[in-house]
Amino acid sequence: MDEFVGRCKIGRKFSVGKSVNGVEFFGVEVSDKPGVEEAEPYYKYIGNMHGNEVSGRMLLPMLAEWLCANNGKDARATRMVRDMHLFLIPTMNPDGFDARQRENAHGADLNRNFPDPVLDRGSDLRKATAATEPEVAQIMDFILSRTWSASANLHEGSVVVNYPYDGYTSPGRSGTAHLTPDDATFKFLARTYADKNPLMAASREFPGGITNGAQWYDIYGGMQDWNYVVAGCMEVTLEVSAEKFVPASGLKAIWDQNRDSLIAMPLAAALGGVRGRVTAAGSGAPLAATLAVKSSDANSDAPVPFYASKNFGFFARPLVPGTHTLVVAVDGYATAEADVTVPTDGSGVVKNFVLKPLK
Ligand SMILES: [Zn+2]
Repeated sequence: MDEFVGRCKIGRKFSVGKSVNGVEFFGVEVSDKPGVEEAEPYYKYIGNMHGNEVSGRMLLPMLAEWLCANNGKDARATRMVRDMHLFLIPTMNPDGFDARQRENAHGADLNRNFPDPVLDRGSDLRKATAATEPEVAQIMDFILSRTWSASANLHEGSVVVNYPYDGYTSPGRSGTAHLTPDDATFKFLARTYADKNPLMAASREFPGGITNGAQWYDIYGGMQDWNYVVAGCMEVTLEVSAEKFVPASGLKAIWDQNRDSLIAMPLAAALGGVRGRVTAAGSGAPLAATLAVKSSDANSDAPVPFYASKNFGFFARPLVPGTHTLVVAVDGYATAEADVTVPTDGSGVVKNFVLKPLK
């Protein structure tokens, strides 16, 4: 990683934190201005939260290398580097990797350790508790330090894209889907990935290579639902290999299967939906607004909010092509609402909001 950021000026290394055994783990931010906050969409990939699922820690550095080699040559790479910030964290469980085990050094499954919107209902889900593992608490802090469009975390054990919800509103059910109010957009994101992965696209177990999390098997304390509900970040879970602890010899095949998907997903999620800024009328000051996509379905659950950045009032949200209604709220300002039409060509739509202060 040091070698990469030394050689490639579009990369900046950052520390996420330390594992139970004191192993520091890192990420790379890829952008034309890495380390400088901009009014651009943020997207992240996190790998190896299960120590024995290693594809992510190999694929994410390969993606960084691909961007470095193709920036200015390939339109996708150029756009990703120029118009957004991509955060790559190859491992969040270095101790599990060292021990060749799923769990961290405390024996905890990190994908069951996040504050859970269902099990921990009523408590502040942004805060780690005594039960939160250090790797999870540090990833939570990292995620909450920015506003994100979307993300994915990489696993092994199957070949499918899994989208929220992972849990039911009351545990104990099984086999039925628990869909979010953003279901059409989640399916669109999942298909964006799966359509370009030949194994997923041809899946017999999962039509189209995608599945609702709870419908497959429900989990609680997962990173995916926490990202969506708490951080306002539309996360999906990528299962990229049926075999766990893929040997180095299998890496090339997995890269070939996933490369175009790993490239397509951030572009579609961060730049293909809606993005814009929220500012105050008169002063033009940026507003850290709370936004939501209103559902046209009266029976749907309440919209799940997402957020504009404090420093720029910037927001970016994936949206399936079509017309949607956005609602924007800030304390002390009149709430605003607007329709946006997202085109099918992946270019996204820009919508800025100027909010009037309440008297
Ligand atoms: Zn896993």
